[in-house]
Amino acid sequence: MNSTDTPADRTRHLCVMNAGSSSLKFGVYLPDDGLKLWRSGAVEGIGGAARLRVMSEDGRETHAGQHTVPDHGAALRLLEGLEDGPMTRGNLMAFGHRVVHGGAAHDAPVRIDEASLGRIEALSALAPLHNPPAVAVIRELMRLFPETPQVACFDTAFHRSHPAVADRFAIPDALYREGVRRYGFHGLSYEFIAGALGEVAPEIALGRVVVAHLGSGASMCALAGGRSVDSSMGFTALDGLPMGTRSGSLDAGVILWLQQQKHWSVDRVEHFLYQDCGLKGLSGVSNDMRTLLASPEPLAHLAVEYFVYHVARMAGALAASMGGIDGFVFTAGIGERSAEIRARVLRRLGWIGFSLDETANQNGGPKLTRPDSRLPAYVIPTDEELVIARHTQALVQPPETGGLV
Ligand code: ADP
Repeated sequence: MNSTDTPADRTRHLCVMNAGSSSLKFGVYLPDDGLKLWRSGAVEGIGGAARLRVMSEDGRETHAGQHTVPDHGAALRLLEGLEDGPMTRGNLMAFGHRVVHGGAAHDAPVRIDEASLGRIEALSALAPLHNPPAVAVIRELMRLFPETPQVACFDTAFHRSHPAVADRFAIPDALYREGVRRYGFHGLSYEFIAGALGEVAPEIALGRVVVAHLGSGASMCALAGGRSVDSSMGFTALDGLPMGTRSGSLDAGVILWLQQQKHWSVDRVEHFLYQDCGLKGLSGVSNDMRTLLASPEPLAHLAVEYFVYHVARMAGALAASMGGIDGFVFTAGIGERSAEIRARVLRRLGWIGFSLDETANQNGGPKLTRPDSRLPAYVIPTDEELVIARHTQALVQPPETGGLV
């Protein structure tokens, strides 16, 4: 096969969808080619003048442009209408979706039917900013491609193995049973890392590993024997580490104070916590780590140091959750691309047994520590879409049947 084949020339392909509040990212995979990525891209700026980009497997841009895209349904119709685009009819085998919140009941992906979609829709109350776009995309695909199976993969599912002490807040049991729990997020990313450790870092794959997913959303996970036992994120993706625009852990008294003393409405507090805090709020300069690292502003320096400090502090907490630590992994935008942040975190963790290999770190690893370091640290690029593609293939094409079900 060569790169000019269209999906319809191939036996089958499956499409992974990642719906954000104002974006729709996608990837088209070829299951008969070992789940090779064939097309990827995004519609960004949904709700107004949106940018469309489609890339081929060798990084060429195959489509680009500005379009008026009022909602996620319109974004799908735009993709469907593209000639040689990601959703060419023919041998479309399945759609796999990233759904941020799967609630307490979902510890694995599910094949979508009306009943399971109803359960996912009900979870929108727990994740009002995150689940509705995924539900809208699933509904529109049911309309456009009624015969094509769809699978939902949840960011919370990988964390359902947490013990009760990590799964609860110190609040009455009745609220826990109503769903006020520490769900944890970025689970698809941690699942990818848990699977990749066997190849990249086999000496720690079955040990106690702290994984830092440091992107514009940031969290950390305690992986013991490849299973999640604790996470920095809790009920929502606001908890834990400081992020691009989210505060991370915040004394609940601050929120009471904003409401009582400044008379901020619920909507204003919500917007503040999701959009105006974190690196952006603290620095007053930017939510982007690259900008902050290059900035001469004292508050930009403080924001970077605050981020590093809290990643290192969380590493200590998660090591304590596991009764020790055998290794550390960096992943996602900042973790994968910023040698400076990795170096500063590992220097802070020197006391625990990490000795940084400066050259290896500058060269992007994967191993970041010296041969004589008591503990190893790695950088491993994450691939949440591939995890979704694998689950989708497994659910629509169980290996024992070898065919679609
Ligand atoms: P998302 O959570 O949106 O998927 P990513 O994982 O793509 O985010 O990470 C985006 C973040 O990565 C940006 O905020 C940016 O600050 C940071 N980033 C990307 N490249 C670099 C770099 N070379 N140095 C420092 N930070 C970087």
